[in-house]
Amino acid sequence: MTLADLPFGPERQALIDLDAIRHNVRRMAGIAAPAKVMAVVKADAYGHGMIPVAKAALEAGAAWLGVALLSEALTLRAAGISAPVLAWLHTPSSDFGAGLAAGIDLGVSGWELDFIVAAAREQQRPARVHLKIDTGLGRNGSTAEQWDSLVGAAMEYQDQGLLRVVGLFSHLAVADEPHRGETDLQLQRFREAVAVAEDAGVDVEVRHLANTPGILSRPDTHFDMVRAGLGIYGLSPFSGQNSADLGLRPAMTVKTRVAQCKDVPAGQGVSYGLNYRTPAASTLALIPLGYADGIPRVATGGPVRIAGITYPVVGRIAMDQMVVDLGPGASVADGASVLGAEAVVFGPGDDGGPTADDWAAAAGTINYEIVTRISGRVPRVYLHERAT
Ligand SMILES: *Cc1c(COP(=O)(O)O)cnc(C)c1O
Repeated sequence: MTLADLPFGPERQALIDLDAIRHNVRRMAGIAAPAKVMAVVKADAYGHGMIPVAKAALEAGAAWLGVALLSEALTLRAAGISAPVLAWLHTPSSDFGAGLAAGIDLGVSGWELDFIVAAAREQQRPARVHLKIDTGLGRNGSTAEQWDSLVGAAMEYQDQGLLRVVGLFSHLAVADEPHRGETDLQLQRFREAVAVAEDAGVDVEVRHLANTPGILSRPDTHFDMVRAGLGIYGLSPFSGQNSADLGLRPAMTVKTRVAQCKDVPAGQGVSYGLNYRTPAASTLALIPLGYADGIPRVATGGPVRIAGITYPVVGRIAMDQMVVDLGPGASVADGASVLGAEAVVFGPGDDGGPTADDWAAAAGTINYEIVTRISGRVPRVYLHERAT
């Protein structure tokens, strides 16, 4: 390839296939039916872009949207999205008044109730709340001991017209390891908490417990609605099964172009620390993505696909760049320079190319983190966006 032959295209991009998102939402909805699907689009839709993903998920039949932060929920509303939205992670500084005014459903673990009621009084508008019980995860949610009084207080406020208890929910801790017994215990505690609430007169629209691993492995956790995050991005939460095994399509492809290609002698050190030295005379390709782009610095050995061949990253991953060793056969002197060639860091993997799962393995983390941490320096490019 000569420079003149190079196709025009972005230097680096995260390509987001919205048809894959739609496919995955339909797949998760099919598994969860008759339960409804809440598409979890927190953290900028796990790095995929919150607004386009939220719209695609709603187009494909998601009934609700879920986010962690009120600020994320307000961003959805500011984009004109009017579907039900639940936000569940608050601090005493959260702007409950703005959430109320925007018609956001609010998760309540305890202390939030009085703050929300104060906002409801001020606006003379009832809040919509989902009461959360901690059934074992040890994070958000009321303890079992506090549950009675939380339900009681919420029902008093409901009787005063200050709020409506719309949902009851909890979150699973180990559903990605389906053999573990703790999920049974969580399920049992959730059922007990629902029974306590129903005895107190709570009559909810939605009881919800399942995340992606729960949706895929535990039909008994589906209740009225499921909260699907990872699965709608096409990724598997299980170590023994990949996306294809689950009928899912990874929606994000991160790629760039080779920034330099050069022949080096045996013993050439590569990147900070010189932790890698070429075992023989070889050719190095420079990949212009690094930890500032969200590639984990610890992930040396992660795969990059160039011209149909997958190579491991050698040496340290730097802020802006990383290096692959093309091996002795790829000599620039032979006219095989890959300067400007497309370099795929991860994608759907259907062509045998690298995946977010591969990078998770290289970094000692989970695929959730790989896609979520791709930074704003990598422009998102949307495929199959529909005009609205
Ligand atoms: C992030 C989150 C989810 C989504 O989990 P996935 O495993 O990505 O499906 C569901 N519920 C809560 C409370 C969450 O924080």
